[in-house]
Amino acid sequence: MSLPSRASYRDIPLYSPSKVKCGVDLSDNTNLFGMPPSAERILRETVASQVSRYPVGYAPELKQAVARYTGVDASRVTTGCGSDDVIDSTLRAFLEPGELIAFPDPTFVMMSYFSKVNGLRYAAVPLQADLDIDVDGLLATGAKLLYVCSPNNPTGTVASRAALERLVDNAPGIVLLDEAYAEFARESHLDLASRPNVLVTRTLSKAFGLAGLRVGYAVGNPTLIAEVEKARGPYKVTGLSERMAAAALSEDLPWMKARAEEALAIRARLVAELEKLGLKTLPSEANFVMVPLPGAPAVAERMRQRDVNVRAFQGLKGIGDALRIGCAPWTQIEAALGALRETLR
Ligand code: PMP
Repeated sequence: MSLPSRASYRDIPLYSPSKVKCGVDLSDNTNLFGMPPSAERILRETVASQVSRYPVGYAPELKQAVARYTGVDASRVTTGCGSDDVIDSTLRAFLEPGELIAFPDPTFVMMSYFSKVNGLRYAAVPLQADLDIDVDGLLATGAKLLYVCSPNNPTGTVASRAALERLVDNAPGIVLLDEAYAEFARESHLDLASRPNVLVTRTLSKAFGLAGLRVGYAVGNPTLIAEVEKARGPYKVTGLSERMAAAALSEDLPWMKARAEEALAIRARLVAELEKLGLKTLPSEANFVMVPLPGAPAVAERMRQRDVNVRAFQGLKGIGDALRIGCAPWTQIEAALGALRETLR
């Protein structure tokens, strides 16, 4: 008997980055400097009665905490099971199956996946030679929803303010700006979320070191926020995750900022060491660096044999093969550099 399935899902593979267990894992850009103490306290203090009931619908306390952190009214905030969920819900909220979304190439690999599972057509518009977004190219697609990620995963590079403003001013529909790595960047563009057609997504998974909780959020016009909430549903974040995330946002900003600064200092040392190996990196404003390197997938495989996992990309538009190396406490970076040196020898 053949089980029923959606024809349009037949060619969608499961997301599967190489997740071989390695002693050092720098492959997913998470914060490897520990977790916020306030979140750990909530985890220890949570009692059985708090997990037997549903969380409060639409996460009002977490929204308040995000609102205070980002300096906006809570009516301008929605949350989700990671910013993945917020992005996915946004696509579903504003586009009917068959409609078009556009995003730069390369960008967050999940964008093509979210497009496919929502039945969307997508246009991938190459970054410019200077690695800024191609505003005219994105606008020329006529897409009703334009996604831009800055700092961009996997390149670490940023979109310029001028380009973002021109995109927002001229977009025929919504601009979804993904700022998952904002806390590591020199400049945030969260203020653009005050424009009627812009949603900015952020996450607790990176600078806040809480990737396992799966908490992300968006800021924007309350009318857009309400549509995203319809598409997402009421209970996507667990009550425990909500409380831990709210505590981190309220009590541990100095902790987060110190960890983010540490990551940036380590990034500078890592870049200098890579240069000594003759490797150039792309200018990063995130907690990872991209290293263009022909044969990167084979290099990463040999590094994994030496117990170090970094992310490899093949044939990226305008860049070619490349490694993406996350920042972590220096002992882990030293292990990665050691494995890389042996591999390149
Ligand atoms: N956006 C970007 C650019 C990312 O790199 C990631 C994590 N890989 C996400 C969104 C999703 O993060 P999360 O779902 O953990 O919030």
